[in-house]
Amino acid sequence: MLELQGVVAGYGSAQAVAGIDLSVGEGELFCLLGGSGSGKTTLLRCIGGFLAPQQGAIWLDGQDVTALAPHQRDLTTLFQSYALFPHMNVAENVAFGLRRRRVDNVAQRVDEMLGLVRLQGMGARRVSQLSGGQQQRVALARCLAPRPRLLLLDEPLSALDPELRAATRADLVAILRSQRTTSVLVTHDRAEALAVADRIGLLNKGRLVQVGTPRALFENPTNCFVAGFLGDVVLLEGVVRESGLSTSVDLAVGSVCAPASAHARGTRLFVALRPERIRIEPGEGPNRLTGVVDAIIYAGATVEIGVCLPDGARLRLVRPAEAPSFVPGTSITVAWDVDAVMLLAS
Ligand code: ADP
Ligand code: MG
Repeated sequence: MLELQGVVAGYGSAQAVAGIDLSVGEGELFCLLGGSGSGKTTLLRCIGGFLAPQQGAIWLDGQDVTALAPHQRDLTTLFQSYALFPHMNVAENVAFGLRRRRVDNVAQRVDEMLGLVRLQGMGARRVSQLSGGQQQRVALARCLAPRPRLLLLDEPLSALDPELRAATRADLVAILRSQRTTSVLVTHDRAEALAVADRIGLLNKGRLVQVGTPRALFENPTNCFVAGFLGDVVLLEGVVRESGLSTSVDLAVGSVCAPASAHARGTRLFVALRPERIRIEPGEGPNRLTGVVDAIIYAGATVEIGVCLPDGARLRLVRPAEAPSFVPGTSITVAWDVDAVMLLAS
């Protein structure tokens, strides 16, 4: 549906995105995730036709649209500041994109869209008489009214306060799913991307570092950056002792048994663990380390326990808050399952 081939773009001599190859399938909700300044908006502006790539090509539905203006592409863009027209009422805002496309039955389509975003009967309201969440839904209705083949959304929830965000996010995703609109959604919020995306493309410094399902990026990150961006992670340095049906890794303070991997013996790497997969469990053997509790951070539903290992390395684990608590200075043994281990290049 959407295909990017070697897209390079920037501002003057400053490159903001470099060598982006990407395919988005029909009906897919694709999230472009990345920190501030990673190039998300720049890439979205290239897809939308607001910025010409310096190199590469963009295909939409089998057509090379690289040189086409935004209105010549069958897509609509919902910008970060979704800027409704304040001098128009709700219905006029929604109808705006339809008039330009000379759609018949504008009034009927506007009603249909207001129903879709649960604002039926509010067409005559002034935009200023709506809450933030309602304004956001009007903006979405305005984008979806012309039935675009592709919808681009740049941090569409960032103008909303935190309480509204979760509810509006659920609304937004339900609406996009019901319309089966192919969408590219830009966000810097990993929780948002994990919750809504069919697939995520993680950008770092203008490059796509990994593309895959939320589960693939969280559970099988290709490097430490991806592992750390998608969630909290503990990194322990080690050396591969043996690899075959499983991988054995020597740490300074013990040994780790990991799933089979292609890492050769002697490779230096990081053993990466999600804190919520680490348990407190006395005993001996691989995947068990003993250390001293050096921090307890209460977070309401959970407690984070910091553990200092004999070589000075630290790890953190997350336990339900109702579990027995420890005081700093206590010696504890922690353990984890083989499949909790992610081996990442250093
Ligand atoms: P994101 O949306 O991920 O925060 P952007 O795509 O907006 O990132 O920005 C990527 C890089 O391009 C940043 O280094 C930013 O400073 C730069 N940049 C963005 N817009 C402009 C502009 N209009 N002129 C010059 N540099 C820009
Ligand atoms: Mg941006």
